[in-house]
Amino acid sequence: MYRFWSKLNLKNLALPVNAFWGRFSHDVGIDLGTANTLVYVAGRGIVIREPSFLARGRKSKEILAIGLSAKKMYGKTPRAIEIVRPLKSGVIADFDAAYAMLSHYIKKVHASDSLIPKIPRPKVVLGVPSGITEVERRAVVDAAKAAGARAVYLVEEPMAAAIGVGLDVDRSDGIFIVDIGGGTTEIAVISLGGVVLGRSVRFAGDEMTEAIINYVKLKYSILIGDATAEEAKINIGCVSVSKEKYFLARGRDLEKGMPVSVKLTSTDIQEAIAPVVREIVSVISNLMEEVPPELMSDVMKSGIALSGGGSLIEGLSAMIEGRVGMKTYVVDDPLTAVARGCGKLLGDPELLNKIRITKGMSK
Ligand code: ADP
Ligand code: MG
Repeated sequence: MYRFWSKLNLKNLALPVNAFWGRFSHDVGIDLGTANTLVYVAGRGIVIREPSFLARGRKSKEILAIGLSAKKMYGKTPRAIEIVRPLKSGVIADFDAAYAMLSHYIKKVHASDSLIPKIPRPKVVLGVPSGITEVERRAVVDAAKAAGARAVYLVEEPMAAAIGVGLDVDRSDGIFIVDIGGGTTEIAVISLGGVVLGRSVRFAGDEMTEAIINYVKLKYSILIGDATAEEAKINIGCVSVSKEKYFLARGRDLEKGMPVSVKLTSTDIQEAIAPVVREIVSVISNLMEEVPPELMSDVMKSGIALSGGGSLIEGLSAMIEGRVGMKTYVVDDPLTAVARGCGKLLGDPELLNKIRITKGMSK
């Protein structure tokens, strides 16, 4: 406490309230994804990277675990504990859980600083899906504010991803970017610092995982868990099979009820996820047809950028390239693009002001 007050000199007291809290809080960029939450701290980079899961008492509502430890409990908990995913299809589905998660991480990034007051008041830049409604926006802003944020800026995820990977959103006229996350695929055409065309669809990574569970159920009469299906997808998933790979999945025989193992092949996964992949590709090619002719030549030059975890499915970029007839590439480190973009915006207030969809200071 003594150290805190000794740092609080008269110069600080004369500054406006915002600057006061700015001095004693780390501003953060947060990618609050359906599948993963990443926190970027100004000057430090990405410091938190955890699955968006939370474990709590079903009746008591007491928070028992957040992040990876909660995800690991998924499907194994006794009745008294529920595992919650605070976000669904990119938006807050469980307000209390989203608030608990945000405040946990905001406290955590300040925990090692003895100079920071007990309740940090950071400025927060948050990535949200581009199709988000006013009510959904409000929920995100309220959750972040309840978690301690003194100002909340929302930016569209594809815009944040483009900034994160270093595309010049402010000057370039014609960036085509597709962010394939857990809950949603976000497609945007960006020109001169704004989203000129955008689509958000609910076909993305989680839907692929779900499709694998259903496929295995139908083909092998075996029920596999979510985590197993996701692991199979990440390990041997592809959109066209060049070399067969195998994944040993454990599950439960639906007829006998006994635990069994099944050797899944790349062909299994490819067939299972094909309908989801087809949807994603067709939304991309449909949106491409809507690109205004004035922007088309730029888009042709820069190609289609893919970000988000779903873009890592083997062969996906090549398939899109073939179907749409345009150069398509996966950005560098696609899982962190949105968080890096939010982080960069903390240091570029001018650009942030230009592209933010809302600044949640007023009610
Ligand atoms: P969100 O922004 O919705 O949190 P992410 O961009 O973090 O989503 O991506 C998470 C999704 O990407 C999950 O569905 C996950 O299974 C999938 N994913 C992650 N890595 C890979 C991979 N190597 N191959 C295929 N899918 C992946
Ligand atoms: Mg995302």
